[in-house]
Amino acid sequence: MKPLSPQFRPYGWALSTAEIAARAGRLPEQVLRFDGNTAPDPPPTARPETIAAALERVQSYRHGGFPELLQAIADYNGVEPENVVLGAGADDLLMLCARAHAGPGDRIAVAYEPSYPLYRVAAWVTGADVGDEDPVLTFVCRPHNPTGAMVALPDARPLVVDEAYFEYGGETAVPLLADDVIVVRTFSKAFGLASARIGYALADGRTAAELNERQQPAPVSTISAALALAGLDAGPPDVSATLVERERLADGLRSLGLEALPSWTNFVLVPHPRADELYESLLARGMAVRPSPGAIRITVQRPEADDRLLDALGELL
Ligand code: PMP
Repeated sequence: MKPLSPQFRPYGWALSTAEIAARAGRLPEQVLRFDGNTAPDPPPTARPETIAAALERVQSYRHGGFPELLQAIADYNGVEPENVVLGAGADDLLMLCARAHAGPGDRIAVAYEPSYPLYRVAAWVTGADVGDEDPVLTFVCRPHNPTGAMVALPDARPLVVDEAYFEYGGETAVPLLADDVIVVRTFSKAFGLASARIGYALADGRTAAELNERQQPAPVSTISAALALAGLDAGPPDVSATLVERERLADGLRSLGLEALPSWTNFVLVPHPRADELYESLLARGMAVRPSPGAIRITVQRPEADDRLLDALGELL
């Protein structure tokens, strides 16, 4: 295989629910996960009927792609179908953006590090390095993972703005598509379809056409496309309960004496000098949070689950 940057580190998945259960001496059903930044429940549209027509034709390729889905995504974002690129999750599109711009000898910049680790992986697997000097492409996560902040947009161009958490924060870089900006979105978060692996990029018409030419021919399954279309047809996702619960969770954390950073997402970052210890102690109780340098990141869950986490933290502090 071709050598990669000496900086290269593969993406590290969190422990499986079965592993957490084994460590904690509990059943997998008893494990509570606060580490995936996904919705607590599937959307009402994720039903067998939604995918029935796709299953009836699952033996064949979908010739001609997904014009209805492209139109629905375009309508949702106030752009044209020609501005849309489909992918198997935001990750697929982030990797596509990297390989469309970079190769060996190039540098890709990542704003506001530490950030979503896949930006580095996407850069490295093209043969490029990660660095701020004269980058061929810059990634920014906005709202930002892991802090949850609505960070300022960098001036760098070309710029990929990862808006995986857009629906929780409401601000978008879509008006900047003509200014060498690519926006990456996902159905994994507010639309509740993380396992369906579907996302999209928005770019100016020429950039979108070039990205589509460099994308694999059929990146999205008919089953995932049907789920995504049904999600969009149901109207913009209602994140209000998550936002209310996020503030209740943050208040609960603060009343334990913890710092909970203001968030524009469905998670809260809690800086703590003994973050690693807290992470391990929670794991031993069957609760997974995401460790981050000097902090733990907590996904907003249902109130009952969040209360159990607050109780556990109360005992540990
Ligand atoms: N971008 C960010 C900032 C994320 O946090 C995540 C989820 N881990 C992704 C992209 C990945 O999204 P998807 O499931 O669509 O690949």
